[in-house]
Amino acid sequence: MKRDYEYIVLGLGGLGSGAAYWLSRDAGAEVLGIEQFELGHVRGESQDHSRIIRLSYHTPEYVELAKLAYDAWSTLQRESGDQVWLKTGGLDFARRDSRIPLDTYRNAMRACNVAYEDVDAREIMRRWPQFTLDDDIQGLYQEQSGIAMAARANAAHQKIARANGATLIDRTPVTNILTRGNEVAVETPGGTFSCRKLVIAAGPWSNRALGYLGIELPLEVTREQVTYFAAPRPDDFAPDRFPVWIWMDDPCFYGFPTFGEAGPKAAQDAGGKPVTADTRDFEPEPENQRGVEEFLSRYIPGALGPIIYTKTCLYTLTPDRDFVVGRVPDAPQVLVALGAAHGYKFASVLGRVLAEIAVDGTTPSAGEIDRFAIDRPILLEESPATSFMV
Ligand SMILES: Cc1cc2nc3c(=O)[nH]c(=O)nc-3n(C[C@H](O)[C@H](O)[C@H](O)COP(=O)(O)OP(=O)(O)OC[C@H]3O[C@@H](n4cnc5c(N)ncnc54)[C@H](O)[C@@H]3O)c2cc1C
Repeated sequence: MKRDYEYIVLGLGGLGSGAAYWLSRDAGAEVLGIEQFELGHVRGESQDHSRIIRLSYHTPEYVELAKLAYDAWSTLQRESGDQVWLKTGGLDFARRDSRIPLDTYRNAMRACNVAYEDVDAREIMRRWPQFTLDDDIQGLYQEQSGIAMAARANAAHQKIARANGATLIDRTPVTNILTRGNEVAVETPGGTFSCRKLVIAAGPWSNRALGYLGIELPLEVTREQVTYFAAPRPDDFAPDRFPVWIWMDDPCFYGFPTFGEAGPKAAQDAGGKPVTADTRDFEPEPENQRGVEEFLSRYIPGALGPIIYTKTCLYTLTPDRDFVVGRVPDAPQVLVALGAAHGYKFASVLGRVLAEIAVDGTTPSAGEIDRFAIDRPILLEESPATSFMV
């Protein structure tokens, strides 16, 4: 097997598969992707039927990046022939005094010329009688929101990366990284590989991979969970009749139409306990489950039904919940990507950005990603204050 590559991607979850795909469009057989488990494993962050994709974000930079995210998914759809996202429309809703002010979302979308609709409780219930809301609830509807089909999109990224000549190997943990001049040596139990540029996309294992370079970020890994419910009338929640939704308060809940399973999915955002990626278990947390059920019984009662299954999943949270994307200052031949537990929708565009930086040294999307630098002040603090609500 070839040992020396121009580019290596460490980690083939959502972001790493995106990077391998975009690198392979430029460099074909000069790309190696290395994954510690089997491709499609469920121990990381990216493997389920659905993730929310939306333009509705709290800063203009995220809104602009989200526009580019749709473009990147379209390119993948065109090249793979696989549908990887589905438009359903999206509803952000909350009480007027909620912890996550809808105005920041309105202002960011207005600044980026993104159309949205203000909808009050009565209008929400008129359009989607699945909701039962009090008068003081208001909402924002954005029609481009929908479902990023995570498991399918990962497979599509991997399929086309391979078709372009890239080598993707699984069940191969990277056990050390050494930088020497312009070279990077990547050690595995199957031998050492070398490259000119390494992309680290290690999700909840990021600090272990970065630790080989002497870097530790103030990350918190939490074990989260999502539940599919056998709603009595699952077709009431079909994607053409029911939007993706986010309850913009603390606690924050979110959910999906019936997609991939026999009923809708709902979850609490950032409601899980701190764990480590290697010692976490897969048992759902009953208290978290109760919170989701109470929320649904109050606001979306028809979505409740027997549990089809609850799936646990890891969040990798930065203190400000912003991504980490870009070069490592002391090792510029190494790039890092971390999605801060809302990054799936951006998996393909961040893959494109990483490939551009790796190949060209720069990206046309610098304006959108500069604020995600690995050496931004909050990531240099030992115990920074955290703010996970976005
Ligand atoms: C329950 C849940 C709901 C979410 N909802 C949304 C949503 O609605 N919208 C949204 O945009 N985002 C959402 N997210 C966040 C999003 O899914 C993540 O930001 C994104 O999937 C992170 O992808 P990743 O590639 O960074 O991590 P991962 O998918 O975990 O990939 C990292 C990969 O690196 C591999 N790896 C690590 N170390 C090594 C090593 N040393 N050697 C080899 N391989 C290694 C791992 O095995 C893993 O496969 C959600 C996340 C969860 C858990």
